[in-house]
Amino acid sequence: MDDLSDILGDEYEAVIGLEVHCQLDTASKLFSGASTKYGAEPNSQVAPLDMGLPGTLPVVNRKAVEYAVRAGLALRCDVRNETKFARKNYFYPDLPKGYQISQHRAPLCENGELVVPIDGDPLGDGDVRRVGIQRLHLEEDAGKSTHLKGQPHSLVDLNRCGVPLIEIVSEPDLRTPAEARAYMKALRDIVVFLDISDGEMSEGSLRCDANVSVRPSGDEAFGTRTELKNINSFKFVHDGIAAEIRRQIELLEAGESVEQETRLYDVDAGRTRPMRSKEESHDYRYFPEPDLPVFTVDKEWIEEIRANLPALPAERRRMYREAWNVGRDDAGVLTGEPALANFFEASVAHWSGDAQTVANWIVNQWLRVLNDTGHTIDEAGVEPGEFVGVVELVEDRVISQNAGQTVLEEMITTGRDAETIVDDEGLRQMTDAGAIESLVDDVLDDNPEQVAEYRGGNNNVLGWFIGQVMQASGGSADPKIVRSLLQEKLDS
Ligand code: ADP
Ligand code: MG
Repeated sequence: MDDLSDILGDEYEAVIGLEVHCQLDTASKLFSGASTKYGAEPNSQVAPLDMGLPGTLPVVNRKAVEYAVRAGLALRCDVRNETKFARKNYFYPDLPKGYQISQHRAPLCENGELVVPIDGDPLGDGDVRRVGIQRLHLEEDAGKSTHLKGQPHSLVDLNRCGVPLIEIVSEPDLRTPAEARAYMKALRDIVVFLDISDGEMSEGSLRCDANVSVRPSGDEAFGTRTELKNINSFKFVHDGIAAEIRRQIELLEAGESVEQETRLYDVDAGRTRPMRSKEESHDYRYFPEPDLPVFTVDKEWIEEIRANLPALPAERRRMYREAWNVGRDDAGVLTGEPALANFFEASVAHWSGDAQTVANWIVNQWLRVLNDTGHTIDEAGVEPGEFVGVVELVEDRVISQNAGQTVLEEMITTGRDAETIVDDEGLRQMTDAGAIESLVDDVLDDNPEQVAEYRGGNNNVLGWFIGQVMQASGGSADPKIVRSLLQEKLDS
């Protein structure tokens, strides 16, 4: 799926490095006790420290450090035992302190990697790209400015001021917009499975800046890069980078050169436009944060965090497929969200048959029932053991497949258990062959014309007969028995 081959041709190669910001899902901010809850009344979650009031001092949120270490370990980084914070100075109305506390010289994590599937196959059966992780550091978020159209003023909300972020800086190892998007999706999955962030690009919990350059194919040296700021959807990761690559190649083709600058992707125009000339690191006048001592992350703590890392989606996908023989697409669906993967694994633990049967039930029925009743898997209130109980009722042919779905729906909406629902709703399947046989005989006797039609070679009439018998049984006859009895009698 190399969507840009038409533009890049054989002549050019693109080089992309991403700086990803991810909000950590801690209860309080990185250096103050204010709440981080999303969607609160503007300026209702702001501690004096977040406003930069004199006399306030920052205290590092240990949970945020733990979350960052979790991410660093999942990305195979080296974790520093002593990490330092620095002030990054700049002025903006949503940054009341006039500086952001970040990390500069001694970032918490460095030298990691993420292996990303790149041929458009999110399940990773094909080619992969190894993306180096330069560094992963902690920093605080700024507030949020809203610029009102046609108004002489802007609004500032400081709730986000001081919310913990990790910034994950990749090596310039990505080569196409599709690879950049795949990398972003892989990171999203990782932070969500690590339970350190909701990974919602639409709410700004995950966003990125993309550094983009092009060079003639075969060149060792990188071309001049531009930086695309504030990309907030997976689609724009792809489309913004593609637009920027296109623009740079056009410049080079016209004999012009690329300016190093910061640009924005204009979604409506489908192009990037200049924002400002690129700032250099020295413009920020970084200096060590004088209000925070060196932060110690001792080896025992790191090893404890490592030992408790949850299994990541790629690993779980491999286990489902290789150890449990689950189909490739089902394994992909089941590892889309941690709650789903956890539910699947817990269900398999309750189940004595093959895992694929459970996978089928979750992917084909359970997800539909959840969707129809408007519940998440966690809210539905049906435990994996209870769920497997319903699957068993169907597999043992106590109830039909359709009745199985009805039972699941009723379990969610009424909270009754499966057996009670089966009895209350009369869902028990008629499996007594003798009883079904007399229904079959009645239907055949009543419809001599259709019998003749079938015997004259029209096999399609069988389906109609099955429908008649099912109807006569009030839907409770086991369709497998109905079919075989009908066939036997019609063919004799
Ligand atoms: P800065 O501190 O100015 O943002 P860095 O050297 O730390 O610059 O790099 C930031 C990001 O830019 C990294 O993700 C890196 O991979 C990427 N990058 C560096 N050089 C290039 C280039 N020539 N083309 C594309 N990306 C690049
Ligand atoms: Mg940068």
